[in-house]
Amino acid sequence: MTVFYCAKCGAELSPDLQELQGIPDVSMHGVDRHGKTRLAPSTVPRGSYAIDPEPWGAPFVAPGTQAACALVSRALLMPPGMTDMVPAGPRGSVIVHPEDVPSLQLASSLGVHHGCCGPLGTGGPNMTCVCGAAVGTLAADCMGPHELHLDPLRTYAFTSDRSL
Ligand SMILES: [Zn+2]
Repeated sequence: MTVFYCAKCGAELSPDLQELQGIPDVSMHGVDRHGKTRLAPSTVPRGSYAIDPEPWGAPFVAPGTQAACALVSRALLMPPGMTDMVPAGPRGSVIVHPEDVPSLQLASSLGVHHGCCGPLGTGGPNMTCVCGAAVGTLAADCMGPHELHLDPLRTYAFTSDRSL
C-alpha cells in the first residue's frame, strides 16, 4: 500500500492506495438517454492508483516527434485549438481517483483549458497543495478522460511492505 505526499511541504495527499498492474482500459465518455455526453467514470477506482508510463499532459507536440501512445483506447486529452497534437508531459505520472486526494484545490482560472463540464487538464498542473505547489493535473471534462495525474517530480510515494 502506498501513500502520496507533496514534495514541497510533505503534506499527506492520499490515503493508503493499492497499485494497479497497468492502467484500466476505460471506455470513452458515456452518453445519457438524452444523447448528451457526460463525464466518463474515473480511470482508476477509488483506493487505487496506476503509473502512466507514457508522456501525459502539457506540453503538446506534433505527432512523429516521439513514439505514439500505445493506449489508444483510453480517452485522450484534447487541447483546445490544437488538433492532432500529442502530449509530451512527464512520464511516470501517477493516476489516482480525484476523490482520493481531497486536499488538493483546483486552480481558479483555467482559461481555455476549461471544457464544457470541467477542466480539460491540457494546460499543465491545475491542482494545488495547501502549500500552493501545483502537484497534479485534473482532467474531468465530458469530452476527455476523467483522471487526476500526480506530478512525478512534485509528489513522492511512501510504500509500506505490510502486504509482503
Ligand atoms: Zn504542499
